[in-house]
Amino acid sequence: MAGIYIHIPFCKSKCAYCNFFSLASESKINDYVEALKKEIVLRKNYLGNETVRTIYFGGGTPSLLSVKNIEEILELLNKNYEIISSPEITLEINPDTIDRVKMSALKQLGTNRMSVGIQSFHDDDLKYLGRRHDSRHAMQVLEDLKHTNFEKITLDLIYGMPTLTEEKWNKNLDIFFSTGFTHLSAYALTVEPKTILGQRIEKGDLQNISEDDAIRHYNILVERTKENGFEHYEISNFAIPGFRSQHNSIYWMDEKYLGLGASAHSYDGNSRQWNISNLTKYIQLVGNSDGYFEKEILSTDDKFNEYVMTSLRTSWGCNIEKIEHDYGKSYAHHFLKNIKKYLDNGEMLKENNTYFLSEEGKLFADGIAADLFL
Ligand code: SF4
Repeated sequence: MAGIYIHIPFCKSKCAYCNFFSLASESKINDYVEALKKEIVLRKNYLGNETVRTIYFGGGTPSLLSVKNIEEILELLNKNYEIISSPEITLEINPDTIDRVKMSALKQLGTNRMSVGIQSFHDDDLKYLGRRHDSRHAMQVLEDLKHTNFEKITLDLIYGMPTLTEEKWNKNLDIFFSTGFTHLSAYALTVEPKTILGQRIEKGDLQNISEDDAIRHYNILVERTKENGFEHYEISNFAIPGFRSQHNSIYWMDEKYLGLGASAHSYDGNSRQWNISNLTKYIQLVGNSDGYFEKEILSTDDKFNEYVMTSLRTSWGCNIEKIEHDYGKSYAHHFLKNIKKYLDNGEMLKENNTYFLSEEGKLFADGIAADLFL
């Protein structure tokens, strides 16, 4: 089974912290959709005989596409790929870009999972993050979603901003739990130097983030999601049992995926390829059917590193028998030798032949994984 990701790189404006490939302009949407449609056909053999079980519209802001755009893309995918009868179809939406009428139309098309970029329900946090929407929009989108009755809904929240007190973070979580939605993605804010936020902090216009705040917020998050019956199945992802993101699980379970659109990445088990991160060039090069992506064949070291990095982020952990079977004895030996100190300091735990990060270890996941790389 495999997944298809479609990147929609348009936004109404650029959020201050955003480091994704997205443009604050909608002028080329139609040309881009035409190029995407061409790429859908060009790449139809990429997944070989794999059946597709998930389709994910990510961005950017996919809710800026018209219903007709999304319908045409889905129709073309169905014509060109082997897709299960009821795939998980996710669409990322932002609060001020969609209403009930559009939600209902998208539901009619088969979209069954909405991923909403709320980030916070407080105006001062949203202002710090440079989001377009305000708390009123955030509450309105929740009402519209409840009314439209989607099968699966996930919210994105961000913590770690200096404007976010523990009381306000608890209030954000209260609002989330009161919705009855079954999935939450919660991210610690990171500040990249080239973003608007990074530059404003550098100039002294805005207060910097603090690691201590982020840790306090993370601990509250872990405790409260657990109390409310959510599984912490990936570092930033929490779900009621049975409601994990099937699409993102494909990335974390080392399954194949096809990425369509500018900057999208694909993986076929042996190589990775990534499309050009330039809108005009993507449209032009896809039009020529050539030169719109780069490709890298993965070595055994690359595959091992990737497995360690992704599996350690998950609740199913890193399995030593799989390492020995898929990559060889020397990789298993390297892994066991290097994790010893993390088992001793409690940042990693062992159950049978599987190794996991403890809740505390999850705070240092990237550093621990990098230390285990070859
Ligand atoms: S909506 Fe998302 S992709 Fe668009 S600018 Fe904001 S953070 Fe970036």
